[in-house]
Amino acid sequence: MNRSCFLCSANIEVADRNEWSLPDLEPLELGFGHCPQCGLVMQSPSASSEQMSAWYRDQAVYTSPGRAGQPHPRKVRGTTRLIRAVEHALGRPAASVFQIGCSDGYALSRFREAGAKTLVGLDPSPASAALALERNSIEVINGTIEDQSELPSCELFLMTHVLEHLFDPLAALRRVRETGPDWLVIEVPLFERPDSWPPGYLSFEHLNYFTEDSLVRMLAMAGFEVVSLDKQYADDIYPVVAVVARAGQAHTPNAQPGEPERARACLQDYLDRERATWARIENRLREEIREPKRLFLFGGGVFASQLLANVEHPAFDSLAGILDSSEQRWGSTLGTHLVLSPAKASLKDGDCVVISSFASELEIWNALAPERERGVQVIRLHG
Ligand SMILES: [Zn+2]
Repeated sequence: MNRSCFLCSANIEVADRNEWSLPDLEPLELGFGHCPQCGLVMQSPSASSEQMSAWYRDQAVYTSPGRAGQPHPRKVRGTTRLIRAVEHALGRPAASVFQIGCSDGYALSRFREAGAKTLVGLDPSPASAALALERNSIEVINGTIEDQSELPSCELFLMTHVLEHLFDPLAALRRVRETGPDWLVIEVPLFERPDSWPPGYLSFEHLNYFTEDSLVRMLAMAGFEVVSLDKQYADDIYPVVAVVARAGQAHTPNAQPGEPERARACLQDYLDRERATWARIENRLREEIREPKRLFLFGGGVFASQLLANVEHPAFDSLAGILDSSEQRWGSTLGTHLVLSPAKASLKDGDCVVISSFASELEIWNALAPERERGVQVIRLHG
């Protein structure tokens, strides 16, 4: 699906496009480019909204199966930062919080500990909604902001790592503004410093890539005034920016001079780095994979799709399967490859496993310690 800029309606200038195979989806052509008028970087062409809805319902996993449900330390730190920023802006803890895209309800449970009395979550994944109730006693409405006819009235709306996933985040924010919360807290990946981005940063799930300028402009257009803005460059796997904003008058500021040129240069810089990264990974696999009895990937998410799209290796044609610890992915197919439970594959001496994840590489490596001792070759691509 071709998209135009949701801030100024201009056509996107596409810098890179590729065919992607994702679990249980038809092969897709995805591209990335920038708006020549305002500099906003977007995915275009993208999947259709129907394909995205199916993905979030059936495939997307944000609930850390590898840590027995415990939140990642960086999620704990990030949530602490947000709660402090809210208390600083309001002069007290928030009384009622509605979180759009609440996953397993961890952040809402922290706002409850900080003093909030009313907590409501919204999430498209039934698996996440069930976990939120079970683990954190958070009631979750199953759905997306686009399909809700009414939103709860809470004084603070929380949207962390949501706006980059929406086809029209400006429309979503206008909707939020109409509902009438006094406060809005958002966090998104920050499109700055491409030297610090991981491989596969331009991703299937991320439809929009914000700079400080495009983010603040979008908030102003929706009627939110920025009260504080916090950029973190080293705490997550990529830079993030968090904003506390309050309800104000909607207006349309101009983009900063030079913003389109900066966006295009930043995108090009990253694409060059990315090509070098995939070439390095391909060389490494050619050196390390030695006629295994069976070859598996471990990790059936978006990174596996990117690996298969960008790296050529003769052994990939005879892949025995893709292992994944998340039960909801078992039985789905990625291209021609089946996603399997690691237990079912019963890895043996002489098998080889390539870890196809960036964010969870170390966790998977540690979880495979018994297999490594048994003589299974495990290859890490990053660490
Ligand atoms: Zn634009």
